[in-house]
Amino acid sequence: MDFGRLTVTFLLLSFATSSLSERLIRMSTEDRGTSSVYSGVPSSRRNTDLLCESWKFSVETNDAGVWYTVPEKCVSFVNNYLNGERYRYDSEVIADYAIEYAKTVNIAGDGKDAWIFDVDETLLSNLPWYATHGFGSEVFDEDSFNKWVDLAEAPALPASLRLYNELQQLGFKIFLLTGRTESQRKSTDKNLLDAEYTNYESLILRATSDEGKPATLYKSEKRQELIDGGYRIHGSSGDQWSDLLGFAIGTRSFKLPNPMYYIL
Ligand SMILES: [Mg+2]
Repeated sequence: MDFGRLTVTFLLLSFATSSLSERLIRMSTEDRGTSSVYSGVPSSRRNTDLLCESWKFSVETNDAGVWYTVPEKCVSFVNNYLNGERYRYDSEVIADYAIEYAKTVNIAGDGKDAWIFDVDETLLSNLPWYATHGFGSEVFDEDSFNKWVDLAEAPALPASLRLYNELQQLGFKIFLLTGRTESQRKSTDKNLLDAEYTNYESLILRATSDEGKPATLYKSEKRQELIDGGYRIHGSSGDQWSDLLGFAIGTRSFKLPNPMYYIL
């Protein structure tokens, strides 16, 4: 069975046998190593850091489409990226562009000018957990991750906290739209407040009725509800394309880096 058919079969089985939680898409069915991805580069000239940089570019731009795990040979590259200055610089520059745009938005003063943030790897960093789970190279362990969420100890991403505070000063209403579930509301609220994310308008989590929906659909429906309520979504910030695509999208989207996992 080729990879494409295997993927389709896997997805169909997932829909048929259980809800397709967004976590499920992180599970690996097959490790797509860089050797197959970069077959156009002669093996004698392959440089692991260059290959992994190209791999990261492809997953960040969504050229790679759905992917399951970080290639084994790129684990240390991803570690170095996330724990080095590069990730911080990337995030700060994205925040700069978001603030530059936000300052051009005419705030009407009716309380309906909105900005949407995702939570994981956008406002909060789960890097401490991923550092002990192979930086995305291992099959996603949902039970272990949920225990980490319950601890409510994820640190803020500094660039996102800066953007968050600037947006509030400019007069935006902040909505948090996450794939976390209602059962995680208490720990998520606590974690956000401890990380100094205060005065958000609403924290929107998956209800029971949202189980099984791909993230793109779930998040689009929630954005539509905001628009139906009269809100104008000027911007969205998220680390996944499923935070930013679909319908009822924001006027501008700001994609944060995440070379650890892909959520459909
Ligand atoms: Mg996220």
